[in-house]
Amino acid sequence: MATIFVRCDDAAAPTLTFDTQAGGANAAPFGEGDVLLDISWSSLNYKDALCLKGDRGVARVSPLIPGIDAVGTVREAGPDSPVRPGQLVSVNGAGLGEFRHGGYTQQLLVPGEACVPVPEVFSAAQAAALGTAGYTAALCVLALSDHAVKDGPVVVTGASGGVGSIALHLLARLGYEPVALTGRAERFGDFLRGLGASEVLSRSEFEEPSARPLQKSRFAGGVDTVGGQVLANLLAQIRWGGTVAACGLAGGTALPTTVLPFILRGVTLAGVDSVRAPRELRLRAWELLAEHVDTGVLDSLTHVIELEEVPAAGRELLAGQRYGRTAVRVN
Ligand code: NDP
Repeated sequence: MATIFVRCDDAAAPTLTFDTQAGGANAAPFGEGDVLLDISWSSLNYKDALCLKGDRGVARVSPLIPGIDAVGTVREAGPDSPVRPGQLVSVNGAGLGEFRHGGYTQQLLVPGEACVPVPEVFSAAQAAALGTAGYTAALCVLALSDHAVKDGPVVVTGASGGVGSIALHLLARLGYEPVALTGRAERFGDFLRGLGASEVLSRSEFEEPSARPLQKSRFAGGVDTVGGQVLANLLAQIRWGGTVAACGLAGGTALPTTVLPFILRGVTLAGVDSVRAPRELRLRAWELLAEHVDTGVLDSLTHVIELEEVPAAGRELLAGQRYGRTAVRVN
């Protein structure tokens, strides 16, 4: 069966193989868990791109089938599994494509606990287009509403990327005033306004360290996918009682901030981890997506590629040459 493997035992020279004969009719299925999935779609995320280049922070085992998302039909399910044979399900994170084999293959054993039934409003391709990015965007939006950010301007960083574009769309549909922050305002300004951004800000305005630990308070909240100095400046511009949901590190892992936004403006920094999120939270996030995502808009920000195109697309993603979401046709 068509499968991508990354081998990174030699950190200096990781290798990628596209194997059309992996497994074989009588071989045990790849992966681990109580549910056997016939995978039809996966997707390409920032983390997948890192994995494909052999980043050991993501690819914790070797060899590894990358792909943190898998959408497919349940072929077999253990008696205690929450899903049944024949059901279309989505698995996002849960170690896929990191410390256990992931979605860039046609059949996979996965933990039933992480399988979420795909809501009827979405096709398998659309569920993969949402993927970890859409589900994480929903987790971020839930974190804001759980922290009582009800309305007002909410900044989304890395806005033209996967998490960012879906977060913008969701926030707009929920009646917030989404503000897009992007490093590519000239190229993607119209695209971001089309997703509902009321304003498009340039990332460069947020990349310089500020001498002022508290800046003019402008935003009710934020969804941050980039970290680093951008997140530090964002925190310094959040209004009293606001919240920033932080999920990403596209701009770096450092956070050069002070305690002042937290102790003088009651700002909350809410961490979002999609990989180990419990089932109840996964279901809530997918419910939010089902209720509020416009599938026409989702299709407009999705690019479909074939499995063999994934390595090149991964390189493009890290080079800043892609935008929106990339769904991967597996079978
Ligand atoms: P994408 O590559 O699709 O989007 C990332 C965006 O970040 C880019 O489109 C770009 O947007 C911006 N960006 C790229 N490079 C830089 C840089 N050097 N400095 C600042 N901004 C930059 O990735 P995803 O949407 O898939 O993921 C976004 C982040 O969220 C990643 O760090 C990923 O690891 C993380 N993530 C975390 C999850 C979790 O569970 N915590 C789950 C999913 C993702 P623009 O050009 O518009 O500025």
